[in-house]
Order: sequence, then structure tokens, then C-alpha cells
Amino acid sequence: MIGIIGAGYSGVALAYNIYREAQYPEHVLLFERRKEHGLGAAYSTTNPEHLLNVPAGGMSGLADEPDDFVNFLRRDRRAAAYIRGDQNIRNQFVPRMVYGWYIQSLLAQSRSPSSHGSVVETIGDEVTGVMSTKQGVVLHTQRGRVVRVDKLVLATGHAPPSQGLLAAVPAEHLVADPWNYARIEGIDRNASVLIVGTGLTMVDTVITLAKLEHRGPIVALSRRGLAPQSHCSLESDDPAEWQVDRLRALRRKLCRSGRNRVESGGDWREVVNALRGKTQELWLGLNQREQNAFLRHLAPYWESHRHRIAPEVAGRIQAMIQAGQLRIMAGKIVNIATDGQPAAPVQISVRPRGSGGNTMMLRADAVVNCTGPETNIARNQDPLIQSMLRQGLIRPDAHRLGLDVSDDGGLINAAGNVSDTLFTLGPTTRGRWYEIVAVPDIRKQSHALARRLLSPIARESRLVAVA
Ligand SMILES: Cc1cc2nc3c(=O)[nH]c(=O)nc-3n(C[C@H](O)[C@H](O)[C@H](O)COP(=O)(O)OP(=O)(O)OC[C@H]3O[C@@H](n4cnc5c(N)ncnc54)[C@H](O)[C@@H]3O)c2cc1C
Repeated sequence: MIGIIGAGYSGVALAYNIYREAQYPEHVLLFERRKEHGLGAAYSTTNPEHLLNVPAGGMSGLADEPDDFVNFLRRDRRAAAYIRGDQNIRNQFVPRMVYGWYIQSLLAQSRSPSSHGSVVETIGDEVTGVMSTKQGVVLHTQRGRVVRVDKLVLATGHAPPSQGLLAAVPAEHLVADPWNYARIEGIDRNASVLIVGTGLTMVDTVITLAKLEHRGPIVALSRRGLAPQSHCSLESDDPAEWQVDRLRALRRKLCRSGRNRVESGGDWREVVNALRGKTQELWLGLNQREQNAFLRHLAPYWESHRHRIAPEVAGRIQAMIQAGQLRIMAGKIVNIATDGQPAAPVQISVRPRGSGGNTMMLRADAVVNCTGPETNIARNQDPLIQSMLRQGLIRPDAHRLGLDVSDDGGLINAAGNVSDTLFTLGPTTRGRWYEIVAVPDIRKQSHALARRLLSPIARESRLVAVA
């Protein structure tokens, strides 16, 4: 029996791969604490204006069936309402909620026994603690279940953001979890809104507010004020040879290639795309000092060029900027104050980037925390993660981007030993792979991990454990 905690894309993709690869009757238990399995943080939105940021042709959930999502779009009746008949489906940016339906369709298939008798059983419950024993792994859930599995995989994904300085914002003014769409929908239409963070979640929040016909001013603030770039229809993959190199040389080559491409009438996005399949290799080729330097100085620039948004979404953001309703600014929050009146706006003192130390005051009726998931597990309040940390079953990776793992996803414990019963995949493995947050990377990882869990050696230890 294999337990998987978390039924977002990573957990479902792994469960589905185990289900169809197993040559013997394997039983997968898939735990999820949300109301619905298969949606996770990214695909629980019900706003059809929240679009995928990758065209449909790149979003197959299965590593060995590149057209699986496109085929789903062709045959699914509900999806038909979101497809433009006059355009190639592969190039369309469809709503994220449609992708959620797709993941749920994979899950639905795996609930019926496979030809080898494997099945995925879904359990709506939160796993709050685990114990590793000689007989396998024992799970405790919030609703009082105690379950033993032979192997356990954490597919727990993105933790909510930490509040940091924003903890000083009174609760009635703060949207602490940007994926709590109901909270964002509760913001008064005339409120002045400060969004802290200028990445993809900021874009989501602005699109939500725009759909609600928000009238108040919106400021989006981050240290560098870098918002995601737009996709563009010109782009194509470039087979350029990128060698693993030192960080400084890589940076120079990237800038030079981008410039050359633009000067010769092309588009810088082609260069970023060419690197897309190489990022993990390049990351692994850097030493730890260079990886640190990349994270500190270059990652914000790389991320805003790499994680791009659909052209129609970019158009709406641009229109709001031009209309003067949205302002994206670079700066640092230095103080947060209130005058004690619950209805009065929060006063946020900001030092704009390049202002030579001068500060300015922003007044906001609502503050939305879009600073990104908390990746440092020491600051993660989740009972499961805390319990595993306390027992020394997990440890953070060197960059505090997630969990320390071996190449095949085995969790590394506090003593530095790789587990052969505890595994993880998806965003929790970012410290090892860096580029492992989006579907195209996780689908490969989930396929490889399923094979690892089902390998003859893995099965042997399973039978020994059961005996
Ligand atoms: C807003 C957003 C938009 C994105 N858009 C795209 C896109 O367009 N294209 C693309 O390729 N990628 C996109 N991504 C990235 C990518 O798809 C996700 O990172 C990926 O889905 C990761 O899924 P996951 O299952 O690992 O994590 P999550 O989606 O975070 O799912 C983890 C699940 O585990 C559950 N869980 C956690 N702990 C427990 C517990 N103790 N017990 C029970 N359940 C638990 C959670 O409730 C959650 O449902 C987006 C990501 C986000 C956040």
C-alpha cells in the first residue's frame, strides 16, 4: 500500500502513474484536506479569467502522452465552452479551472481497478502526523484515522505565505492567504488595495478584482517591482546548445543571446524557451555559492521572464496601468501603522527603490499578501511538517526552498540518511532541482517516482514489510 499526502497536480499525477504502471495489484491511498481532490492551490479557482500561463499544447499531465490535455479539451463537453473554434487548441491559454477538471478526470479513471487490479482510493482528511516503524509508516489524521502504509509520499505542495512585517496589519484589513478567493471577493469595490508581491499571484489578484469591477486604486509592491512578462505568439523553441557553465558566464551568455536575438528581428523569449529544458541541469552544475548568488541577485529577473502570462491577461494588466488604476512599484516596506480606528486605512511606510533612503506613505484599506509560498519548513506551521521535523524524519535543503531529497525523491532525515519509505515530489523538491514547480517538470518527476516506487527492489521491501 502506498500513501500519498496531497491531491493537487503532483499527488494525482503520481497516483495515476502508479495505477497504470503497476504490474501487480497496488493500492494507493490519496489523502486531501481540501473539499475536493485534484485541484490543489493552482486549480481550485472558479474564475474563468484565471488562465493557465502555459498554452494547452504544453500542459499534458502525462510524460509519455504529450497530447493528453489537448485530447481532453477536444472531448470534454464542459471544456468546449472555453475553447475558441477559430484557433488551434494547442496555442490557447485555457482557464485554470478547466485544468482542474482534467486532473480530476485522471483521478476518476484510477478509482476503478486497473487490468492488474490496482486502484486509487481517495480519503478526504488531513494527515497530521506520521511515524516511521519497521513495519512501514503509520499515519494519523485529523479525523482520528490511523493507517499503515508501506511507503509514503509527501505531495503537500505550496505552503501559504508567511506574514513577516504584514503581521502588523489588523486582520480585518489583511488577506493573508491570496488563494482564499472568497476573502478577495469580500474587498469593498472602492477600497484602496495594496498587493505585496508582483509575481503571478499578484496578477491573479488583480484579475479577480477587475472581474468584480473594483473601482479603488491598486498598488502592487515588491523590492524590484518586476511583474511577469507576457507570452507572445512569435515564440518558438530554440535548439541552441547551452553548456553547463559558471554562473557569471551563463548570465553574460543569456543577456548577449537575448540581445542578439532581438537585434536580428527575433524575440528574447526564444532564448528563455531554449533554456527551459536545461534549467535543472544548469542549476545542478552550479556550486552552492553560485546557487546562493543566483537566488539572491538573479532569480527575480529570471522568474519574471521565465513565468510568463497569457497575452490577454497581460493586456488587461497593461490597460489597468494605463488607466491609472494599477501601479506597480519597486520598494521596501519599512513600517506599518494604524491609528486605532478599525475602519481607518492602514498606513504603510515604503522606501522606494533608488530613492536614496527617502520614504513615502501608502494608505490601504486592504492589504493582500502575494509574497509567495513559505518555503522554509522551519517557519511552516503545518502540523504534519512540524511533527516530521521534530522526529528528525525531514530536514530543510541547503537553500531553505523545501525539503532535502535524494535524486529519486527519497527524503533525507536529520542525520543525513536517505529514506527508502518516505518520499516527496513537486515544489517541495525545489532546493534540489530549482525548476520543479510547473506541470511540464512535475509530470516527468511523477512518472520517474512511480517507477521507483514500483521497481522490483521497492516491491521486495514491500513484501518483506508486509510479512
Ligand atoms: C496560482 C498558481 C497558478 C499556476 N499556474 C500554472 C500554469 O498555468 N501552468 C503550470 O504548468 N503550472 C502552474 N502552476 C504551478 C503548478 O501547476 C503547481 O505548482 C503544481 O500544481 C503543484 O501541485 P502540487 O500538487 O505539488 O501542490 P498543491 O497544488 O499546493 O497541492 C498540494 C495539496 O496537498 C494538500 N495537503 C497539504 N498538506 C496536507 C495534509 N497534511 N493532509 C492532506 N492534504 C494535504 C493541500 O490541501 C493541497 O491540495 C501554478 C501554480 C499556482 C500556485
